Amino acid sequence: MQKKLDSRDPKSHLKKPGGVYVIYILLTLLLFLFVWYRNDSIPQEITWNYFVENMLVPRDVDKLVVINGQKVNVYIKPVKLSDPKYAEQAKSRPKNMVIPLYNFSIGSVEVFYDQLREAEQNVPIADRVPVTYVTERNWGWNVILWVLPFLLIVFIWSRLLRSTSSGMQSLNSNLFKFGQSPARVTEIGTQSKTTFDQVAGMEEAKEEIYEIVKFLKNPSFYTRLGAKIPKGILLVGPPGTGKTLLAKAVAGEAGVPFFSLSGSEFIEMFVGVGAARMRDLFAKAKAKAPSIVFIDEIDTIGRMRGKAYSLQSNDERDSTLNQLLAELDGFDTSSGVIVLAATNRGDILDSALLRPGRFDRHIHLELPNINERKAIFLVHLKPLTIGTDVNVDQLAYQTPGFSGADIANICNEAALIAARSEKEAVEQEDFFNAIDRVVGGLEKKSKVITPAEKRRIAFHESGHVITGWFLPHATPALKVSIIPRGKSLGAAWYIPEEHQIVTREEFLDTICMALGGRAAEELVFGDLSSNALDDLEKATKQAYGMVVYYGLSNALGPISFYDSTGHGDQNLVKPYSEKTAEIIDHEVRSLIDDAYVKAKEILNNHRHQLNELAELLIKKEVVHQDEIRKVANHLPANLKTDYVSQCRSI
Ligand code: ADP
Ligand code: ZN
Repeated sequence: MQKKLDSRDPKSHLKKPGGVYVIYILLTLLLFLFVWYRNDSIPQEITWNYFVENMLVPRDVDKLVVINGQKVNVYIKPVKLSDPKYAEQAKSRPKNMVIPLYNFSIGSVEVFYDQLREAEQNVPIADRVPVTYVTERNWGWNVILWVLPFLLIVFIWSRLLRSTSSGMQSLNSNLFKFGQSPARVTEIGTQSKTTFDQVAGMEEAKEEIYEIVKFLKNPSFYTRLGAKIPKGILLVGPPGTGKTLLAKAVAGEAGVPFFSLSGSEFIEMFVGVGAARMRDLFAKAKAKAPSIVFIDEIDTIGRMRGKAYSLQSNDERDSTLNQLLAELDGFDTSSGVIVLAATNRGDILDSALLRPGRFDRHIHLELPNINERKAIFLVHLKPLTIGTDVNVDQLAYQTPGFSGADIANICNEAALIAARSEKEAVEQEDFFNAIDRVVGGLEKKSKVITPAEKRRIAFHESGHVITGWFLPHATPALKVSIIPRGKSLGAAWYIPEEHQIVTREEFLDTICMALGGRAAEELVFGDLSSNALDDLEKATKQAYGMVVYYGLSNALGPISFYDSTGHGDQNLVKPYSEKTAEIIDHEVRSLIDDAYVKAKEILNNHRHQLNELAELLIKKEVVHQDEIRKVANHLPANLKTDYVSQCRSI
């Protein structure tokens, strides 16, 4: 069973510090004072008319005090207090104190004064009731307003002091646990623990990491011969390739607690928090040893502290990194804590982190190949109810470049799509829709497109497909659509060859195919449009990469300006001369120009097919591979015929 534990010690809330109680008591007292002050029955509220009739006219009034221009306090002459009409109020008055027994509200001081003088018209001036004006504050509020901020400051201060000074003891603080690591702990459990069965593919990585599991289960087997197990293991690979999954599986297989924290969680607003969190994380892990600490996105703290970064140095990151190094050095392997870290940029990590005794073992995870994708599909298909027509081989074939996370996402998306249409089981079609959706985004059928635009888009997409179809090294399209999807207005689907090396010819044909859209527009409509932005960007980048990185241009020769340290972006000075820059510009331009000429040439030669495909596309909006083949009347070199018939259904 997986259990998310609050990092607090469950008993800690029982021993609340005494200071808090004092504050509670003080606050309650203050509140009491305030309420009592407000609720007293003296003076009694009366009306102006009552006042005039019963007090002013009988000449019982000693004086009037106007408070804050809003209330008038009425003082009765002491000699008149024995009068029965005052007896009640006089009784409740504290002994011999001169206090107002009555009061009434007034709208404005001027009106009150005029009314009073009117009521006293016939009274000699010397005998008129004296009126004084006082500005008074409500003491209850005053006290609270003054004292509360102080109390708050003292309260916060005391909590802060506690949480920074006394290390582990401070963990009982709930509100101010900046310095504490919010590490999530997966407790040893039986039911839902991750195992190696849930990790498909990556056999090499699993094998390598299995040694860690064996060590965690039985450390003495290794230590009896004096062998040292690596403390830190770095998992390097693109996002979604299952790094977290693998680390969890190790913990699950070994049955040890798993502490995970993401690199970005160390770097926060407050200075010094990162290092404190790191310390705390390791303290917790050691307390529960044997255990696994997993730091995701370690590159956010472990970036090289190189020269190029000195302009934007980040002290917080440095101190966090130093703390991590100190922690790694601070325990010996027999303590049973093993640190796994994940990153997708292994090349930019600080070399101090990669030294022996730290993260000295690296496991590279790659995007899964077709067989691994099949295995991953099988893992994620297990919980679904799938129809009989689902062909896992075909799914694996149609998802090149997809990560494990993408595949998990597709499976879930397909189940959602099937559920929406109230099917009994998830069918192959739902998987294809899910793939299209993950690749291209949501279909936007409501996007307003004029017939003229639709025509242009159809020819543009057909241009891509036809050029690609007749180029020997390009990938033939799997299908082409002019239904707007995500940001794009039309798209052609390809399944790139899965190989590690791209030849010069393949580069050139890819660029040519990318320019096929614009070439078709120019050929058919005689003018150009903004529709080719993505294509041009892609083609330019490819050409630039060929010249500058891969050394594939004749004029520049086998030279590469690629910088694997990842610092290239920070460099203000280009690593080549002005003259070389000119050659690069020239080479890129001529590659693109040549490719564009070639694309136009192909389309000119196959104008008939281009027109036919575009018309078909306007009519049907989606055209599949076998129909393209029929229209083109040609079999491309790279077409995989064994899947053609199956691909019909997408
Ligand atoms: P990373 O940490 O490398 O970014 P994750 O481990 O978080 O990737 O993977 C995300 C999800 O993708 C996992 O929870 C799992 O469902 C799925 N996944 C990734 N790789 C695999 C794999 N090899 N086998 C099965 N599922 C995988
Ligand atoms: Zn295009």
